[in-house]
Amino acid sequence: MSDDNRVYSYSTVLMGSPILLKLFSHDEALASRVFRLIKRYEDLLTVNRAQSQVMDINHAAGKHAVAVSRPVFELIRCAKAASMIKDSAFNLAIGPLVKRWKIGFQGDSVPPADEIAALLTITRPEEVMLDEASSSVFLARPGMEIDLGAIAKGYIADRVRDYLRKEGADLGLINLGGNVQTLGSPDGGWSIGLKKPFAGDALIGTLTVENRSVVTSGTYERYFEQNGRRYHHILDPRTGYPLDNALDSVTLISTDSIDGDIWTTLMFGMGVEKGCAALRARPDIEAIFVTKAKEVVLSSEHHFRFTLLDNGYRVTGSTA
Ligand code: FAD
Ligand code: MG
Repeated sequence: MSDDNRVYSYSTVLMGSPILLKLFSHDEALASRVFRLIKRYEDLLTVNRAQSQVMDINHAAGKHAVAVSRPVFELIRCAKAASMIKDSAFNLAIGPLVKRWKIGFQGDSVPPADEIAALLTITRPEEVMLDEASSSVFLARPGMEIDLGAIAKGYIADRVRDYLRKEGADLGLINLGGNVQTLGSPDGGWSIGLKKPFAGDALIGTLTVENRSVVTSGTYERYFEQNGRRYHHILDPRTGYPLDNALDSVTLISTDSIDGDIWTTLMFGMGVEKGCAALRARPDIEAIFVTKAKEVVLSSEHHFRFTLLDNGYRVTGSTA
């Protein structure tokens, strides 16, 4: 057990994101090991450098299969399964469109419609071929690219939780920038802010959780504006343009952060009503939708408590 109730915070920047670790004991060495663990996964999974295991697969698109380490293979298998769900908004093969739009990176702009149409033809998840026996991945068409940006942080947050547990910590929190995973249950639970869209660090409210992941995907973190229109980084795999609907953000509360990461993207595609209906089959996963009309819709509230701080918003339960 921790020797006092003080929280010690450690921070760094990895994966282009601010990383925050909270522990209930002063342990710089443990914090460094956690950051090294995150860096190792970043080195395997990144598509923002010329080389990583995922980039090795991408460079061999249309040419040959590439054998990868077991964790990378399993994450890709999981991302493919999420992509193959009927009408899924999640698509692990979205890479060519992400690279072309460059949303959140230098040089972002709206691509010409014919370029988007051409790129859509090389974003088919069924053309990501997996071979279980050799842990290898083959992209069937030249130019195809896997992008794990919508799932990798969730996966890594779970690995950090497992590592902290293995190291004997019974309380801890990791925030990978939008992906929070918590270990244990401090007095009063972990309090996590729900950000107000387009308002800096202002909060709509707070959630209190124990032993749970809280993942938020929003239209307000990575976007650019052109001719008075806003373009955010969650792309609709059917059109190649940013998903356009009533939502500003979706927050998922789940045991594993990988589920939260996958489901934020699925929920973005489904919207509030279909999303809440889909979650009825998954009582272990709950969502908070924040709409452009300033509503906060809770799919259910079994594994967290929500406290509203901003009276400009209205909280409603699911009607699904
Ligand atoms: P989510 O909503 O969970 O995912 C959105 C991201 O997923 C998009 O940014 C895109 O990458 C991808 N995506 C878009 N549409 C879809 C779709 N329909 N289906 C599936 N995926 C989609 N950022 C930097 O600025 N610099 C870096 O060097 C950098 N390195 C990274 C390395 C790793 C290993 C990871 C995991 C992320 C890195 N990032 C970096 C951040 C990355 O570019 C994304 O912005 C981030 O992963 C988005 O996470 P999210 O939870 O905010 O968004
Ligand atoms: Mg996601």
